[in-house]
Amino acid sequence: MGQKILVVEDNELNLKLFCDLLRAHRYEAEPVRDGREAVARARAFAPDLIVMDIQMPHISGLELIEQLKADAELRRVPIMAVTAYAAKGDEERIREAGAEGYVSKPISVVRFVEAVRALLAAPRPEEKAGEPPEGVRVARHFPVPAETVFDAWIDPETAGDWLFRTPDGELVRCAVDPVVGGRYEIVERRGEEEVLHTGTFEAIERPERLVFTLAVPLYAQGEERVEIAIAADDNGSTLTLTQSRPADAPVGAEQIAHGWSTLLDALAARLEPNGDQS
Ligand code: MN
Repeated sequence: MGQKILVVEDNELNLKLFCDLLRAHRYEAEPVRDGREAVARARAFAPDLIVMDIQMPHISGLELIEQLKADAELRRVPIMAVTAYAAKGDEERIREAGAEGYVSKPISVVRFVEAVRALLAAPRPEEKAGEPPEGVRVARHFPVPAETVFDAWIDPETAGDWLFRTPDGELVRCAVDPVVGGRYEIVERRGEEEVLHTGTFEAIERPERLVFTLAVPLYAQGEERVEIAIAADDNGSTLTLTQSRPADAPVGAEQIAHGWSTLLDALAARLEPNGDQS
């Protein structure tokens, strides 16, 4: 049997459409018609993904997303919101509530299945009860296709323009061998220091998954592992980055998250449709 997907949807026709579509792609789909049952059913079914309608009687999908994300057991299950809302800001509200994906109705069958696949492929840090999650996670939406975001990470011509760069640094060298087992080296001069960021590609699954190791010998011993998942949606794509971090790491989780946020800002500026391409 395939991965398990809980489908919460009050409209009978949509519920059947989503479940048939998922089953045709060899997923195990479990329908839930009444939103009030969703949390209990999620606990019983232990899904790998939840497809969530937003407009429902009795309880809105938005409230359910908040409840699920507040639940210690269920919070790690990715949620794909499906909604007919068109108003500006709704997607943002849904994402703020904690949904990892967003597809608007009427759905495109291809987009729907692509989004499901991408969310299931996204890494989920293993959480142990009572312990903080290992690793650092940062998510960002980009108004460009998943392929465009993916390529920015591995294109030897442009990766060095933003990746591992700092505002006052100067690029010394950028070499990227974008094959599994291939290495990358990005060297930036920061004042008197030359800072090398390097590692090996472990997975290159365009456009939804990229995994590489990361070492910065000047600042830390050893290697971290970075997993990137990119899910296409109606307005572009959402990237989720997870970096491993041992408990005794010299750099704090917040600092790592801040570092990646800054780099993703740089990437966003680079991918801006009317941005500076020089
Ligand atoms: Mn509905």
